[in-house]
Amino acid sequence: MNNIIVMKFGGSSVATPEKIKIVAARVAKKSKSYKVVVVVSAPGDMTDDLITKATRITLLPDPREMDMLLATGEMQSIALLSMAIRSMGKDSISLTGPQAGIHADNVHTKAKIRKIMPQKIIKELQKGKVVIVAGFQGLNSNDDITTLGRGGSDLTAVALASALKAVECEIYTDVKGVYTADPRLVKDVKKLDLISYDEMLELAGVGSQVMMARSIEVAKKFNVIIHVRSSFSQEKGTLITREVPLMEDVVVSGIAYDKNEAKLSITDVPDKPGIAAKIFGALANANINVDMIIQSAARERYNDISFTVPKSELKNAVSILKKVSCNIGAGRIIYKEDVAKVSIVGIGMKSHPGVAAKMFAILANKKINIEMISTSEIKISCVVSEKDTQKAVNLLHKEFGLNKSNTR
Ligand code: ADP
Ligand code: ASP
Ligand code: MG
Repeated sequence: MNNIIVMKFGGSSVATPEKIKIVAARVAKKSKSYKVVVVVSAPGDMTDDLITKATRITLLPDPREMDMLLATGEMQSIALLSMAIRSMGKDSISLTGPQAGIHADNVHTKAKIRKIMPQKIIKELQKGKVVIVAGFQGLNSNDDITTLGRGGSDLTAVALASALKAVECEIYTDVKGVYTADPRLVKDVKKLDLISYDEMLELAGVGSQVMMARSIEVAKKFNVIIHVRSSFSQEKGTLITREVPLMEDVVVSGIAYDKNEAKLSITDVPDKPGIAAKIFGALANANINVDMIIQSAARERYNDISFTVPKSELKNAVSILKKVSCNIGAGRIIYKEDVAKVSIVGIGMKSHPGVAAKMFAILANKKINIEMISTSEIKISCVVSEKDTQKAVNLLHKEFGLNKSNTR
């Protein structure tokens, strides 16, 4: 089947009945030229509210039951949107993730999509219906619902676009596209017309909430063209695509920050083979993602290892590390929560030396202390004190010229 398009609407786009009607009209219009598969998120802040509700019942909610609860948010949106589309005279059907053939693994609250069996979606499209799929959820091998991690509706949309060989995956949200920085923190942001998968992947990975990082990985792997645009404007947004030559001219294309990580250190770690594997193996076994690892030079056959973990995993990580530290004969576990990671990203870094030095100088000039540094080919991240976040992001945005007119 060809001429399929996937349209994904985020939570803010379906937050109220009025907004759902606007979305429905947009979908109905698009269905005149395409076979449309819509993916929707839970309305507004419902996912956050459900998490809060669960933690008022118990501080450690059972993950299977948590997924059962969280999946209800998206189910409200699909039913309401389908009602709205039908009331406009266009036939449509709502499907949960499991009904849509989305199979995921068994890791509750952050499952990965294993495969998509889209036969039901295709059958309904062939009947001329708009198919509305609940984002962020799938079915595991025990026939239980698992959710795909925060922001997971982006992943549902991109994976469906790939499975259905859609012409494009449109991500409709509350901003007009991908900007040079988060518009909530920086006033004079510029919208990017184009951004490469690699840049978007890095930006998403270091805190830019506009797209979920894993969705970009899938898009890159399967060549899905993503168009990030506003639900409430007809303007063209940002295309996320393969790298094109002109992209290299821009050294820094975006800036992101992340206040969701905490810094952890384990002191006096014996300097011998296999120790790092024990520390990080124990964290990996608990499904804790570790980022920015720094090991100090050994002194008298001991060293310190520092790294960051999501703040939500800090308690768990500390209790695991205390046990590991005992086993390997290391020292104390120290942690700090009021930190933020500030990152600059750009494909042009590959061909322009001195970018890291410039970033450090910009921060140093304003007395912002850098606690940790990590780099990739197209990204430099610094951990700073949380209170310096806004100042650091705005400074870097200005000094790297991102407030000037868009060159892409
Ligand atoms: P949705 O509910 O549609 O999935 P999200 O809240 O997940 O929307 O993502 C959109 C938000 O991402 C925007 O409101 C914006 O504040 C934030 N954001 C952060 N960084 C950027 C960026 N570089 N460009 C655009 N938006 C960004
Ligand atoms: N509702 C889920 C969340 O808030 C998924 C999504 O919005 O993409 O994380
Ligand atoms: Mg989102």
